[in-house]
Amino acid sequence: MAKYFDPQLINGPAGDPGLYVDLAFERRALLFDAGELGSLAPRKLLRIEHVFISHRHMDHFIGFDHLLRCLLGRDKTLYVWGPPGIIEGVESKLNAYSWNLIESYKANLVLHVSELGQNGRLITSEFSGTQRFQRKDLGEAHLVGDLVVADARYNVRATMLQHGIPVLAFVVEETTRINIWRSRVEEMGLEVGPWLNSFKDAILEGLKDDAPISVAWADKSATHPRDLPLGHLKSRIMKATSGRKIAYVVDAAFTDANVKAIVALAERADVLFIEAPFLHKDVDQATARNHLTAMQAGLLGRWSKVGQLRTFHYSPRYRGREHLLADEAQSAFRGGCHLP
Ligand SMILES: [Zn+2]
Repeated sequence: MAKYFDPQLINGPAGDPGLYVDLAFERRALLFDAGELGSLAPRKLLRIEHVFISHRHMDHFIGFDHLLRCLLGRDKTLYVWGPPGIIEGVESKLNAYSWNLIESYKANLVLHVSELGQNGRLITSEFSGTQRFQRKDLGEAHLVGDLVVADARYNVRATMLQHGIPVLAFVVEETTRINIWRSRVEEMGLEVGPWLNSFKDAILEGLKDDAPISVAWADKSATHPRDLPLGHLKSRIMKATSGRKIAYVVDAAFTDANVKAIVALAERADVLFIEAPFLHKDVDQATARNHLTAMQAGLLGRWSKVGQLRTFHYSPRYRGREHLLADEAQSAFRGGCHLP
Protein backbone atom coordinates (compact mmCIF):
# COMPACT_ATOMS: atom_id res chain seq x y z
CA MET A 1 0.00 0.00 0.00
CA ALA A 2 1.22 3.49 -0.79
CA LYS A 3 2.54 5.65 2.03
CA TYR A 4 -0.03 8.00 3.50
CA PHE A 5 2.56 10.49 4.77
CA ASP A 6 5.06 11.82 2.34
CA PRO A 7 7.50 14.09 4.25
CA GLN A 8 9.84 16.35 2.31
CA LEU A 9 12.52 18.80 3.54
CA ILE A 10 11.63 21.84 1.46
CA ASN A 11 15.10 23.34 1.25
CA GLY A 12 17.23 20.24 1.71
CA PRO A 13 19.43 19.68 4.75
CA ALA A 14 21.45 22.88 4.40
CA GLY A 15 18.66 25.39 3.69
CA ASP A 16 16.02 27.04 5.87
CA PRO A 17 14.03 24.61 8.01
CA GLY A 18 10.68 23.50 6.63
CA LEU A 19 9.12 20.05 6.45
CA TYR A 20 6.21 19.59 4.06
CA VAL A 21 4.11 16.53 4.88
CA ASP A 22 1.81 15.61 2.04
CA LEU A 23 -1.21 13.56 3.08
CA ALA A 24 -1.21 11.43 -0.02
CA PHE A 25 -4.47 11.11 -2.01
CA GLU A 26 -6.22 13.77 0.06
CA ARG A 27 -5.01 17.10 -1.37
CA ARG A 28 -4.13 18.11 2.16
CA ALA A 29 -0.75 18.87 3.68
CA LEU A 30 0.92 19.92 6.90
CA LEU A 31 3.85 22.31 7.21
CA PHE A 32 6.38 22.21 10.02
CA ASP A 33 8.24 25.54 10.13
CA ALA A 34 8.11 28.17 7.45
CA GLY A 35 11.62 29.09 6.35
CA GLU A 36 11.92 30.14 2.71
CA LEU A 37 9.02 28.50 0.82
CA GLY A 38 9.75 29.83 -2.68
CA SER A 39 10.64 26.40 -4.03
CA LEU A 40 7.22 24.93 -3.16
CA ALA A 41 4.78 24.99 -6.08
CA PRO A 42 1.61 27.07 -5.41
CA ARG A 43 -0.55 23.95 -5.78
CA LYS A 44 1.39 22.45 -2.87
CA LEU A 45 1.09 25.60 -0.75
CA LEU A 46 -2.67 25.62 -1.34
CA ARG A 47 -2.98 22.15 0.21
CA ILE A 48 -1.57 23.24 3.56
CA GLU A 49 -4.19 23.18 6.28
CA HIS A 50 -2.03 23.40 9.40
CA VAL A 51 1.25 25.24 9.93
CA PHE A 52 3.32 24.38 12.99
CA ILE A 53 5.96 26.97 13.85
CA SER A 54 8.68 25.78 16.24
CA HIS A 55 9.70 29.33 17.19
CA ARG A 56 9.99 32.78 15.67
CA HIS A 57 13.63 32.93 14.72
CA MET A 58 13.67 34.39 11.23
CA ASP A 59 14.86 31.28 9.39
CA HIS A 60 11.79 29.39 10.69
CA PHE A 61 9.14 32.05 10.02
CA ILE A 62 10.15 34.20 7.05
CA GLY A 63 8.23 32.04 4.56
CA PHE A 64 4.93 32.77 6.28
CA ASP A 65 4.49 35.90 4.13
CA HIS A 66 4.97 33.85 0.98
CA LEU A 67 2.29 31.39 2.12
CA LEU A 68 -0.06 34.23 3.06
CA ARG A 69 0.31 35.79 -0.38
CA CYS A 70 -0.42 32.50 -2.11
CA LEU A 71 -3.57 31.88 -0.02
CA LEU A 72 -5.03 35.39 -0.33
CA GLY A 73 -8.22 35.44 -2.38
CA ARG A 74 -9.05 31.83 -1.45
CA ASP A 75 -11.89 30.63 0.72
CA LYS A 76 -9.85 28.93 3.36
CA THR A 77 -9.10 28.68 7.06
CA LEU A 78 -5.42 28.17 7.81
CA TYR A 79 -4.57 26.87 11.24
CA VAL A 80 -1.30 28.15 12.70
CA TRP A 81 0.26 26.71 15.84
CA GLY A 82 3.29 28.02 17.67
CA PRO A 83 4.93 28.88 20.98
CA PRO A 84 4.07 31.92 23.13
CA GLY A 85 4.30 35.05 20.98
CA ILE A 86 3.05 33.44 17.75
CA ILE A 87 -0.22 35.42 17.79
CA GLU A 88 1.66 38.68 18.12
CA GLY A 89 4.06 37.50 15.43
CA VAL A 90 1.28 36.81 12.92
CA GLU A 91 -0.48 40.04 13.89
CA SER A 92 2.71 42.04 13.31
CA LYS A 93 3.21 40.46 9.90
CA LEU A 94 -0.40 41.27 8.93
CA ASN A 95 -0.07 44.83 10.25
CA ALA A 96 2.89 45.39 7.99
CA TYR A 97 0.56 45.55 4.96
CA SER A 98 -2.40 47.75 3.93
CA TRP A 99 -5.67 45.87 3.48
CA ASN A 100 -7.92 48.61 2.11
CA LEU A 101 -8.80 46.62 -1.03
CA ILE A 102 -9.52 43.29 0.61
CA GLU A 103 -13.31 43.90 0.88
CA SER A 104 -13.52 43.53 -2.89
CA TYR A 105 -12.26 39.92 -2.69
CA LYS A 106 -15.03 37.39 -3.20
CA ALA A 107 -13.33 34.66 -1.18
CA ASN A 108 -12.22 34.99 2.42
CA LEU A 109 -9.02 33.80 4.05
CA VAL A 110 -9.14 33.23 7.81
CA LEU A 111 -6.05 32.65 9.94
CA HIS A 112 -6.77 30.73 13.12
CA VAL A 113 -3.70 31.13 15.31
CA SER A 114 -3.05 29.24 18.54
CA GLU A 115 -0.30 29.67 21.08
CA LEU A 116 0.84 26.64 23.07
CA GLY A 117 1.98 27.76 26.50
CA GLN A 118 3.17 26.02 29.64
CA ASN A 119 1.13 23.12 31.05
CA GLY A 120 -0.98 22.72 27.92
CA ARG A 121 -2.40 26.25 28.02
CA LEU A 122 -3.78 27.24 24.64
CA ILE A 123 -4.69 30.78 23.56
CA THR A 124 -6.36 31.37 20.19
CA SER A 125 -7.00 34.42 18.03
CA GLU A 126 -8.49 34.73 14.59
CA PHE A 127 -7.68 37.08 11.74
CA SER A 128 -10.31 37.28 9.01
CA GLY A 129 -9.85 38.94 5.63
CA THR A 130 -13.37 40.39 5.77
CA GLN A 131 -12.30 42.20 8.95
CA ARG A 132 -9.11 43.47 7.30
CA PHE A 133 -7.25 40.92 9.39
CA GLN A 134 -8.01 42.69 12.65
CA ARG A 135 -7.25 40.40 15.57
CA LYS A 136 -10.20 38.77 17.30
CA ASP A 137 -9.36 36.92 20.52
CA LEU A 138 -11.17 33.60 20.89
CA GLY A 139 -10.11 32.87 24.44
CA GLU A 140 -8.26 30.22 26.31
CA ALA A 141 -8.41 26.42 26.47
CA HIS A 142 -6.27 23.51 27.61
CA LEU A 143 -4.79 20.73 25.54
CA VAL A 144 -5.58 17.14 26.44
CA GLY A 145 -2.10 15.86 27.24
CA ASP A 146 0.21 16.91 24.41
CA LEU A 147 -2.37 16.44 21.66
CA VAL A 148 -2.53 19.51 19.41
CA VAL A 149 -4.53 18.30 16.39
CA ALA A 150 -6.78 15.22 16.32
CA ASP A 151 -7.87 14.53 12.74
CA ALA A 152 -9.63 11.32 11.66
CA ARG A 153 -6.45 10.34 9.77
CA TYR A 154 -3.66 11.70 11.94
CA ASN A 155 -2.71 13.24 15.29
CA VAL A 156 -0.15 15.95 15.91
CA ARG A 157 1.46 16.19 19.33
CA ALA A 158 3.93 18.76 20.63
CA THR A 159 6.42 19.26 23.41
CA MET A 160 8.24 22.37 24.56
CA LEU A 161 12.04 22.55 24.44
CA GLN A 162 14.52 25.19 25.52
CA HIS A 163 16.69 27.09 23.05
CA GLY A 164 17.18 30.21 25.17
CA ILE A 165 13.54 30.78 24.21
CA PRO A 166 10.73 28.16 24.16
CA VAL A 167 10.76 26.02 21.01
CA LEU A 168 8.15 23.44 20.03
CA ALA A 169 9.00 19.99 18.71
CA PHE A 170 6.27 17.99 16.97
CA VAL A 171 5.24 14.50 15.93
CA VAL A 172 2.60 13.56 13.41
CA GLU A 173 1.14 10.07 13.69
CA GLU A 174 -1.13 8.31 11.29
CA THR A 175 -4.08 7.07 13.39
CA THR A 176 -4.47 3.56 11.99
CA ARG A 177 -3.60 2.38 8.56
CA ILE A 178 -6.34 0.41 6.85
CA ASN A 179 -4.98 -1.98 4.25
CA ILE A 180 -7.40 -3.45 1.75
CA TRP A 181 -6.82 -6.85 0.17
CA ARG A 182 -7.72 -6.06 -3.44
CA SER A 183 -7.72 -9.72 -4.46
CA ARG A 184 -10.23 -10.55 -1.74
CA VAL A 185 -12.48 -7.66 -2.77
CA GLU A 186 -12.54 -9.16 -6.27
CA GLU A 187 -13.04 -12.69 -4.96
CA MET A 188 -16.18 -11.46 -3.19
CA GLY A 189 -17.49 -10.23 -6.56
CA LEU A 190 -17.07 -6.60 -5.51
CA GLU A 191 -15.55 -3.75 -7.45
CA VAL A 192 -12.36 -1.95 -6.38
CA GLY A 193 -13.69 1.61 -6.35
CA PRO A 194 -14.56 4.76 -4.40
CA TRP A 195 -16.90 2.89 -2.02
CA LEU A 196 -13.76 1.56 -0.31
CA ASN A 197 -12.99 5.10 0.91
CA SER A 198 -16.37 5.30 2.66
CA PHE A 199 -15.65 1.86 4.10
CA LYS A 200 -12.30 3.09 5.48
CA ASP A 201 -13.91 6.26 6.86
CA ALA A 202 -16.54 4.15 8.64
CA ILE A 203 -13.76 2.17 10.34
CA LEU A 204 -11.80 5.28 11.32
CA GLU A 205 -14.98 6.88 12.67
CA GLY A 206 -15.45 3.79 14.85
CA LEU A 207 -18.88 2.78 13.50
CA LYS A 208 -20.40 -0.43 14.87
CA ASP A 209 -19.93 -3.74 13.04
CA ASP A 210 -23.60 -3.88 12.00
CA ALA A 211 -23.42 -0.47 10.27
CA PRO A 212 -24.47 -0.85 6.61
CA ILE A 213 -21.84 0.01 4.00
CA SER A 214 -23.03 0.56 0.46
CA VAL A 215 -20.89 -1.49 -1.87
CA ALA A 216 -20.36 -1.74 -5.64
CA TRP A 217 -20.69 -5.15 -7.27
CA ALA A 218 -18.62 -6.07 -10.29
CA ASP A 219 -21.52 -7.83 -12.02
CA LYS A 220 -24.12 -5.10 -12.48
CA SER A 221 -26.73 -7.37 -14.09
CA ALA A 222 -27.20 -9.69 -11.10
CA THR A 223 -29.28 -8.70 -8.08
CA HIS A 224 -27.14 -8.16 -5.01
CA PRO A 225 -27.76 -6.46 -1.69
CA ARG A 226 -26.87 -2.76 -1.89
CA ASP A 227 -25.29 -2.78 1.57
CA LEU A 228 -23.09 -5.17 3.51
CA PRO A 229 -22.45 -4.97 7.26
CA LEU A 230 -19.21 -3.21 8.21
CA GLY A 231 -18.04 -6.11 10.40
CA HIS A 232 -18.49 -8.63 7.59
CA LEU A 233 -16.35 -6.54 5.24
CA LYS A 234 -13.71 -5.92 7.93
CA SER A 235 -13.22 -9.62 8.54
CA ARG A 236 -12.95 -10.40 4.82
CA ILE A 237 -11.05 -7.62 3.07
CA MET A 238 -9.21 -5.48 5.64
CA LYS A 239 -6.02 -5.56 7.63
CA ALA A 240 -5.32 -2.73 10.10
CA THR A 241 -1.75 -1.82 10.98
CA SER A 242 -0.42 0.92 13.21
CA GLY A 243 0.37 4.02 11.17
CA ARG A 244 3.57 5.88 10.47
CA LYS A 245 5.03 8.35 12.94
CA ILE A 246 7.21 11.28 11.92
CA ALA A 247 9.04 13.50 14.42
CA TYR A 248 10.38 17.02 13.86
CA VAL A 249 12.97 18.52 16.23
CA VAL A 250 14.88 21.77 15.70
CA ASP A 251 16.81 24.35 17.68
CA ALA A 252 17.29 22.68 21.03
CA ALA A 253 20.07 22.75 23.61
CA PHE A 254 21.47 19.38 24.69
CA THR A 255 20.13 19.61 28.25
CA ASP A 256 18.71 16.83 30.43
CA ALA A 257 15.22 18.30 30.21
CA ASN A 258 15.37 18.60 26.40
CA VAL A 259 16.81 15.09 25.97
CA LYS A 260 14.03 13.65 28.10
CA ALA A 261 11.31 15.56 26.26
CA ILE A 262 12.68 14.68 22.79
CA VAL A 263 13.05 10.97 23.57
CA ALA A 264 9.52 10.82 25.02
CA LEU A 265 8.03 12.55 21.98
CA ALA A 266 10.00 10.85 19.20
CA GLU A 267 9.94 7.35 20.72
CA ARG A 268 9.83 4.69 18.00
CA ALA A 269 9.08 7.19 15.25
CA ASP A 270 9.55 5.79 11.75
CA VAL A 271 11.49 8.90 10.77
CA LEU A 272 13.07 11.55 12.99
CA PHE A 273 13.89 14.85 11.28
CA ILE A 274 16.35 16.53 13.62
CA GLU A 275 18.70 19.48 13.47
CA ALA A 276 22.45 18.81 13.32
CA PRO A 277 23.96 22.27 12.85
CA PHE A 278 27.44 21.64 14.29
CA LEU A 279 30.10 18.96 14.29
CA HIS A 280 30.83 17.68 17.75
CA LYS A 281 34.36 19.11 17.65
CA ASP A 282 32.58 22.50 17.71
CA VAL A 283 30.41 21.52 20.67
CA ASP A 284 31.33 24.71 22.57
CA GLN A 285 29.77 26.84 19.86
CA ALA A 286 26.74 24.55 19.67
CA THR A 287 26.26 24.84 23.43
CA ALA A 288 26.70 28.63 23.40
CA ARG A 289 23.96 28.88 20.73
CA ASN A 290 21.65 26.32 22.39
CA HIS A 291 21.93 23.96 19.42
CA LEU A 292 22.64 20.24 19.06
CA THR A 293 25.74 18.75 17.49
CA ALA A 294 25.41 16.08 14.82
CA MET A 295 26.60 13.45 17.30
CA GLN A 296 24.01 14.52 19.85
CA ALA A 297 21.32 14.40 17.16
CA GLY A 298 22.40 10.84 16.30
CA LEU A 299 22.32 9.79 19.94
CA LEU A 300 18.85 11.26 20.36
CA GLY A 301 17.71 9.17 17.40
CA ARG A 302 19.30 6.10 18.95
CA TRP A 303 17.79 6.68 22.39
CA SER A 304 14.38 7.32 20.82
CA LYS A 305 14.69 3.99 18.92
CA VAL A 306 13.57 5.62 15.69
CA GLY A 307 13.64 3.72 12.41
CA GLN A 308 15.37 6.37 10.34
CA LEU A 309 17.35 9.51 11.16
CA ARG A 310 17.24 12.53 8.81
CA THR A 311 19.47 15.42 9.83
CA PHE A 312 19.17 19.01 8.58
CA HIS A 313 19.52 22.70 9.56
CA TYR A 314 23.27 22.51 8.89
CA SER A 315 25.28 25.61 9.73
CA PRO A 316 26.59 27.44 6.63
CA ARG A 317 30.13 27.16 8.05
CA TYR A 318 30.18 23.54 6.81
CA ARG A 319 29.24 24.46 3.23
CA GLY A 320 30.71 21.85 0.92
CA ARG A 321 31.37 19.55 3.89
CA GLU A 322 27.74 18.76 4.80
CA HIS A 323 28.42 15.04 4.48
CA LEU A 324 30.59 15.27 7.63
CA LEU A 325 27.54 16.33 9.64
CA ALA A 326 25.37 13.61 8.15
CA ASP A 327 28.07 10.95 8.69
CA GLU A 328 28.75 11.95 12.30
CA ALA A 329 25.03 11.82 13.13
CA GLN A 330 24.45 8.48 11.38
CA SER A 331 27.46 6.95 13.06
CA ALA A 332 26.24 8.01 16.54
CA PHE A 333 22.76 6.77 15.58
CA ARG A 334 24.14 3.34 14.75
CA GLY A 335 26.15 3.27 17.97
CA GLY A 336 29.57 3.96 16.48
CA CYS A 337 30.58 6.65 18.95
CA HIS A 338 29.89 7.80 22.47
CA LEU A 339 29.59 11.16 24.08
CA PRO A 340 32.82 12.12 25.76
ZN1 LIG B 1 17.00 27.69 13.67
